Amino acid sequence: MGSTLRLVGRGGPSLAHDGCPAATGPSTPAARTTGGTIAAVSVLVVTDERFLDHRPGERHPERPARLEAVWSGLDAAGLGDAVVRRPAEEASDEDLLRCHPAPHLARLVYLDAAGGGRVDPDTKMSTGSWTAARLAAGAGLVAVAALRNGEAATAFCAVRPPGHHATPTRTMGFCLLNNLAVTAMALADAGERVAIVDFDAHHGNGTQEVFYSDDRVLFVSFHQWPLFPGTGAPDEMGEGTGTGTTVNLALPPDSAGDTYRYALDAVVVPIVERFAPDWLLVSAGFDAHRADPLTRLGLTSGDFADLTARLVGLARTGRSILFLEGGYDLDALSASAGAAVAAAVGIDHRPEAASSEGPGSEVVESVAALHGLVLR
Ligand SMILES: [Zn+2]
Repeated sequence: MGSTLRLVGRGGPSLAHDGCPAATGPSTPAARTTGGTIAAVSVLVVTDERFLDHRPGERHPERPARLEAVWSGLDAAGLGDAVVRRPAEEASDEDLLRCHPAPHLARLVYLDAAGGGRVDPDTKMSTGSWTAARLAAGAGLVAVAALRNGEAATAFCAVRPPGHHATPTRTMGFCLLNNLAVTAMALADAGERVAIVDFDAHHGNGTQEVFYSDDRVLFVSFHQWPLFPGTGAPDEMGEGTGTGTTVNLALPPDSAGDTYRYALDAVVVPIVERFAPDWLLVSAGFDAHRADPLTRLGLTSGDFADLTARLVGLARTGRSILFLEGGYDLDALSASAGAAVAAAVGIDHRPEAASSEGPGSEVVESVAALHGLVLR
């Protein structure tokens, strides 16, 4: 076969034409494309068996079985030949140093040489953790290169350890390196505008900190409030030239799919469109699922499908990347990851219906007002 593209779905041009305008409507193949030709909508999945070698401990919620659950969820999603699999590659020192100063890296290298150990109250390393962390931090760069090459419509980095709590100088909340931030910084330094949407149930404090005063990068976070790590209040909006490029949707416990959809319409879509990014990166944690043992939000796998389809539809074809973050109920994680990745390529796979009737619409309205948006 001369191409890594896979043919799925109905209607639309080939991805070989990577000049497709941004689609802002529903992200089905037919809506994304025009004409009656066959769509070539594929998803690059960057993942690696070496992620299983990060073993923070038998009772630790961020365990290797999570990644196996994600893989089985993708298998169950009926993606077939739409999936293009690619192993991760370790981020270089140069890539890591864009986000993390040398002493942070040196500490992790030291612990790795010592065979691992506790890094902070929530985060542990084993033998294999440092390699896994470097692979997780490099996965997005593999995805960028492949997408630039026209190899897929979108990408999912199925990685662990997760990254969005890692600040430039601190490990935190199961995270050693900020995987998404390493990719976002590489893109920004290459002159590209980057929008980040983080729908993990916890605030992406590390990502926010990296880009808080950086007007090249928009950071939007949906998260439960209050909850670990305690940051992400709506009035945290960025600073200096980055003022207004941080958006925090701090939602009350039990918020459900209707609130997320309202937030997309009222806040996320208009802000991302106003920012006009070249790339859309998503911190795709699935711990806002109602079954998750660490959180108290009300989403279902069907909601993750809706959310992901809308977000990927905000980017040009071949300019969106999802990064796995949290998700600690294995069945919910499996179903949600499968539904989300399927939705990213326009395949309707919904192990559960979407949810509704949760609280939080007043938070959405106050965040819209803080960011100068007129509610439609
Ligand atoms: Zn989380």
